[in-house]
Amino acid sequence: MHRLYENEDLTIFWDSDKCYHAKKCVTGSPGVFDIQKKPWININGAPNAEIWQTISKCPSGALSCTYNHGIRILFDEEGCRSVAYDGEKEIGECDYVAGANGWSIVHTEVMPEYGGRGIAKRLVYRLVEEAEKRKIPVIPVCSYAVKVLQ
Ligand code: SF4
Repeated sequence: MHRLYENEDLTIFWDSDKCYHAKKCVTGSPGVFDIQKKPWININGAPNAEIWQTISKCPSGALSCTYNHGIRILFDEEGCRSVAYDGEKEIGECDYVAGANGWSIVHTEVMPEYGGRGIAKRLVYRLVEEAEKRKIPVIPVCSYAVKVLQ
């Protein structure tokens, strides 16, 4: 399962398949990570710096995070894509093709000047989260999506 947790400044990525329950997150930031609660991550439960530090100690790579840099990620179901915006300007997208076997992620692109800010990963996770909520399988085809979801 892949999930995004966002506040104004930070995005947390969660890949449950990688977690082997070392619980460093739970002990590091108990106000954020609580496996008794649903959702189990409350991104506003501690200062961003504490969250960042805790996530950096996750031994499995199940948790990761990035600062948002003011970039918004939206899901555009009609357009079969997730889209990144800087204000009103579209600066990246991740596209899928809906088929009988699921959603094939065929293209992920962010404008070069916005590179290195975790935007492409947010785009892929947003699509995968939407698919998983609908119980639709995801098939990563573009090389970036393959890398993020491996
Ligand atoms: S620290 Fe990482 S591996 Fe350990 S429980 Fe948390 S998410 Fe899972």
